[in-house]
Amino acid sequence: MKAEIISIGTELLLGEITDTNAPYLASQLPPLGIDLYWISTVGDNLERLPEVLRRAWERCDIILTTGGLGPTEADITRQAIAMLVGEEMKLDAVLEGEVRELFARRGITMPLSNLKQAVLIPSARALHNMQGTAPGWWVEKAGRVLVAMPGPPYEMKRMWEDEVLPMLQERAGAAIIFSRTLKTLGLAEAVMNERLKTHLQAANPTLGIYVRTDGIHLRITAKAETKAEAHELVARREMEVRQAIGDDYIWGLDSETLPGLVGRLLVSRSLTLATMESCTGGLLASTITDTPGSSSYFKGGVVSYAAEAKAIAGVDRQLLERFGTVSPETADALAQAVRSLMKADIGVGITGVAGPTSIEDKPVGTVYIAIAGPKPRMFYHCLPGNREQVKHRATVAALNELRKALLEETAY
Ligand code: AMP
Ligand code: MG
Repeated sequence: MKAEIISIGTELLLGEITDTNAPYLASQLPPLGIDLYWISTVGDNLERLPEVLRRAWERCDIILTTGGLGPTEADITRQAIAMLVGEEMKLDAVLEGEVRELFARRGITMPLSNLKQAVLIPSARALHNMQGTAPGWWVEKAGRVLVAMPGPPYEMKRMWEDEVLPMLQERAGAAIIFSRTLKTLGLAEAVMNERLKTHLQAANPTLGIYVRTDGIHLRITAKAETKAEAHELVARREMEVRQAIGDDYIWGLDSETLPGLVGRLLVSRSLTLATMESCTGGLLASTITDTPGSSSYFKGGVVSYAAEAKAIAGVDRQLLERFGTVSPETADALAQAVRSLMKADIGVGITGVAGPTSIEDKPVGTVYIAIAGPKPRMFYHCLPGNREQVKHRATVAALNELRKALLEETAY
């Protein structure tokens, strides 16, 4: 099956927004066995959009569009599709009821222009939009499938996951597709590539390497006739991958997150946590609280940027002067001070140089992370990147060290 993705929106052509929908959808197609041959971008224009649609219709089996499903005059995707297949749009009673109800529930009068979103053509069926008002269209005609999805990425993604993907999987044949993601930290992409060379070239299961903000993700995807077979293929490749790169570098699986894992470990050990951050400016506390229920184990955090603030939070002034702001001794003092200040079981202290200039002769990227608890731990990292990246990487490193400490320490 040959596919084309069409991103619709004049703002994309003006460079006002970056197209994130097309890369997302593109990444979803290989495991379906669908070959993506083209990605096109076109404005909200009633001459050029039908033209682009027609070209795709002639050269593809599957067309995925995003954008132009809103209620305004500029949103013309439905109209263009109706023109393409030569069908007339009619108001659909069920869809109209749904749109009206959505507005009624919010207590707002529905603008008449929203009725535009409740139309269908005979070859289209509506795709539910869990996140917004615009339903999508699944159009099937002359052996082709055209899927029109909304532009806002979170609406598109949800519609794709819940509705479009299952239907395309069904179409892709009897094959079952199963994926597993191994999340890693500590090995560079090039080293990973080297160690996984043979697996990266294999067809079934396929192995993909994705650089993400919380490390490098490895996705193993298998295709088989039965679920058991697909799982078996993935399990076998997972073992080989683990052997090739080393288990120690793998911190999580599939939808697991570092703050989520740390939270689970703290809960299972009935421990509480507090943080004192200098160079990360509260990012660690913020990331910890991304996890629902974190209030049960996270007592709080102090952002102590100035020496004065560190002193107020209980850090010994003389120690700061003697060892400097960026030092293992200070990181440890931050961790201990916040641990006792918040009466937490574990305290984490971070100090470092986010950049762009060095501090106290310490180069940019120098970060010390201390964990104060039953057994004190100290970690030194030299992180690459700009200010924002150093802050982010220091946060990820702190969470990973915390995760490892919690796993290793039986005393915890
Ligand atoms: P639309 O569905 O065309 O009304 O799009 C609504 C909004 O969704 C736009 O203003 C953008 O903010 C966003 N959007 C639309 N298309 C894309 C795209 N291809 N990539 C990322 N964001 C998009
Ligand atoms: Mg638009």
